[in-house]
Amino acid sequence: TAPARDRLRIAIQKNGRLAEPARSLLTACGLSWRQSRDKLFCYGESLPVDLLLVRDDDIPGLIADGVCDFGIVGRNELDEQGAARRRIGLPDAYQALRGLNFGQCRLMLAVPEEWEWTGVEQLAGKRIATSYPAILADWLAARGVDAQVVELSGSVEIAPRLGTADLICDLVSSGATLAANQLKPVETLLESEAVLAGPVRTPDDARAGLMAMLLRRLDGVVNVQDSKLLMFRAALDRVSELTRLLPDADPLVQLPDDGGHLRLQTMCHGALTWQRLEDLERAGAQGLMVLSVERSLA
Ligand code: ATP
Ligand code: MG
Repeated sequence: TAPARDRLRIAIQKNGRLAEPARSLLTACGLSWRQSRDKLFCYGESLPVDLLLVRDDDIPGLIADGVCDFGIVGRNELDEQGAARRRIGLPDAYQALRGLNFGQCRLMLAVPEEWEWTGVEQLAGKRIATSYPAILADWLAARGVDAQVVELSGSVEIAPRLGTADLICDLVSSGATLAANQLKPVETLLESEAVLAGPVRTPDDARAGLMAMLLRRLDGVVNVQDSKLLMFRAALDRVSELTRLLPDADPLVQLPDDGGHLRLQTMCHGALTWQRLEDLERAGAQGLMVLSVERSLA
């Protein structure tokens, strides 16, 4: 077991797709660090929470070894290393604690455009290039498919053209990279996003309280990220129609009225486009106001 510590350590990606959003999320949770952007280590100032800036591949291992208490990493990376550990008989050493609502992508099988895709049985005897060999091997085994997994650390999408594989299993977000390489996605192995990863057991020292506080603050930021506070006035006989137009909102709350019209507010969890506001206005809402929600404590 790792020695007791009274400061928390969070590992995030140093450079790359998750680096900036991870840092802003933690900043929104009230954390700040002494200026050391180019260093491996950032000393926490507002709270005893330090940052370790690393390659995303290293994050699961840092948690497993007790070097870091939390990490922000793609579910794809966490699952891959978890699956690889299980394949060699190691116990689970970390878990995804929260989805963080950024870094969305899918781990997909993609085949040359000219293939006519009929199903997984087509994969028998084929060579599949991937940077996710453990997830892929588990997925193939679960379907009873005997295919060859070719592990590549990068540039997986050119493997079919180079002749080193017949198809690939890789991360896809827009699909532009696949299209540029004359490949088309056919099966999804994993829906991924950035997650907060933590140990399977919480340490029983000063870090436990810090971890609980940080989780609560994270929820208070992430859970309201797509929500808006909507305020308006309306006559009582319009309320049921307006409620029908707001299926993605909490029940309307009535504020002290200002004579005649009701003053109403609600948290809306879907997008409030101009079109929707105009529809609400036609249905009798007046003085519509949409307010951003920064944080909340449940
Ligand atoms: P590092 O130098 O830290 O090892 P990397 O090259 O492994 O960086 P990035 O390309 O920055 O990693 O991607 C980090 C994570 O971003 C991925 O593991 C994945 O969870 C997520 N991601 C989101 N969209 C995509 C995408 N289109 N391609 C690759 N990763 C994506
Ligand atoms: Mg990496």
